[in-house]
Amino acid sequence: MYYGRFYRRSRSVNRQSTSTTSLLFDVNDPNTMTRPKDVSTKWSKSTVDVARSSRYGVVTVYDNNYGATSVLKESKTRLTSVLPKVNGSWDVHTHCEWCGQALDYVAIIVGINDKNESTVSHIGCDCVGKIFGINWFGYRNADNAKKVLVEAAKSRRRAEEYPVKYAKELLWLKSVPEFLRNKHQFLNDMIEIIEKGSRPISKKMENYLKSYMSRKEFDPKTFASAKLEIDKTLEKLTMILRLVESVDTTEDARSKPWSAYSFVRSIKERFEMYHSPLTAKQMEGLNKVYTRYKGFTKKSIENKMKGDANEIPW
Ligand SMILES: [Zn+2]
Repeated sequence: MYYGRFYRRSRSVNRQSTSTTSLLFDVNDPNTMTRPKDVSTKWSKSTVDVARSSRYGVVTVYDNNYGATSVLKESKTRLTSVLPKVNGSWDVHTHCEWCGQALDYVAIIVGINDKNESTVSHIGCDCVGKIFGINWFGYRNADNAKKVLVEAAKSRRRAEEYPVKYAKELLWLKSVPEFLRNKHQFLNDMIEIIEKGSRPISKKMENYLKSYMSRKEFDPKTFASAKLEIDKTLEKLTMILRLVESVDTTEDARSKPWSAYSFVRSIKERFEMYHSPLTAKQMEGLNKVYTRYKGFTKKSIENKMKGDANEIPW
């Protein structure tokens, strides 16, 4: 007899766990409440008016296939403890209150208008999308949908908070030259995280960023001199490449084994991409190319053109 009781109990617990129970938005915090992004063509005029005049937050999401009576009770208790007067029905709904579509997953949303009156509505995927700007299709269960909604709300909040909280860091990040940032992807990621709030910033990330800011090579003063150095090197590389091109004028000549064209071009391309200082060996090689090509007189070029193409002309 006791056994049977326990059995029934544990079954009913299992059923409840298919639905979700948490309060997703703080209804007293206007930042977590959203105004409709768009107005559905499927809504009646009175629904459009209601939607336009209120801000919304999701209370809970339930799976209509399982029924959700106990979840609704809990949502109601939680919500009425923060908002004493909530108008609206808490029964299980089979159709969206706003557009009339049949429901599988139901979002219970609370709306608060400018007069601080609150209403509760049970709506479906389409209407959630219209309000929160999130496409709800394709989510396999209410739990996933809830996670997405919670994440979107948190991101929105962080996107407002972070640019203010990390204003100094953002300014510094933006002052780091792009080529340097591209070598340290973390810095690019941080710009995105601060601006878009795409994920929370942990203490560890904060400290890591600070360690970057204190590094000498990332001192804004050194950026300027580093850039000057890069410009100088680039100027030299361009000059040598032009010199080689002026001697090896044709595609054919440039592809010959004795032409320095591909050697110089590959060094220049790599430098443009990574800005890493040239190695001693590269510099030596470039110097040799420079002296060799500089030594060509007009006459020797002519001779070279006349000579056997398989013979190295110098
Ligand atoms: Zn709807």
